Amino acid sequence: MIVRISRLSYRYPGSEDWVLKNVNFEADAGEFVLLVGPSGCGKSTFARVFNGLIPHFYGGELVGEVEVCGMDPREHPTYEFAECVGFVFQNPENQLFFTSVEKELAFGLENLGLPREEISRRVEQALREFQLAELRDRGPYELSGGQQQRLAIASVMVMQPKILVLDEPTANLDPFTAVRTLALVRRKTIEEGVAAIVIEHRLEVALPFATRMVVMANGQIVDDGNPAEVIARQKHVVGRPQALELVERLIQAGLSLEVEKPSPEHVALGIVRAYKVGEHAARRKRSSPG
Ligand code: ADP
Ligand code: MG
Repeated sequence: MIVRISRLSYRYPGSEDWVLKNVNFEADAGEFVLLVGPSGCGKSTFARVFNGLIPHFYGGELVGEVEVCGMDPREHPTYEFAECVGFVFQNPENQLFFTSVEKELAFGLENLGLPREEISRRVEQALREFQLAELRDRGPYELSGGQQQRLAIASVMVMQPKILVLDEPTANLDPFTAVRTLALVRRKTIEEGVAAIVIEHRLEVALPFATRMVVMANGQIVDDGNPAEVIARQKHVVGRPQALELVERLIQAGLSLEVEKPSPEHVALGIVRAYKVGEHAARRKRSSPG
């Protein structure tokens, strides 16, 4: 387990209320964990524990056991987590510091003391993967919200962290770019064994990639497991993805549908399959004598 958290509780300084209450959570390499829950339930706070922003930057009181990449964030300074945990904030402009896209991407790598060729190889790859090549000389403040968001994610991914924590990473992205970005994250989990913890309320965008879904409510984890099963159990908390609604209506209308996951892609596949089966049956009927 690359993340091991047990009986974690936390409150911000000067507050009597515990924002996180007795949270137990583990994550393994290769997982894509989708973390959802109502606004204000503690998702961002939970994410800040992963790289030690809590308690080092925010202060407050943290109790319980936390182990991230084998380290307790309370006992190690945040820079020791830089190589292991990649973190993208809810507001990407807060984490862009440099005068150009290219410099932004190279900074962390230069800090690690990597050889020049390796830095340039990784920067070029990120420029390509995140469609930033044409913007390489632009300043972060000359970028649109979506471009900034892509840059923030890219500058974290170039570090090749073992854990990626993304706090609403697609909020400023159009649906197509959002899916593309999360697909890239999923690829890293498959090909490089990265553990991704993604806070995302746009279920339709994230579900195709999630291997696991965790629901938080009022500072506690109230469900954790297979995404389709969690959605079925937690309709009242997570809402109902439109794709799932469509499946239910089609089944009611008499179409025999098998859908693996309640994501638009899987639903589309299910419909195509059902259509082909129907077409095949119709053709057989037509070609049969009489
Ligand atoms: P979410 O990300 O799920 O919307 P947050 O983790 O941002 O929830 O917030 C959880 C609770 O902690 C909220 O009640 C919020 O007001 C409080 N909170 C968040 N950040 C701070 C902070 N820096 N100082 C004090 N309270 C905070
Ligand atoms: Mg938040």
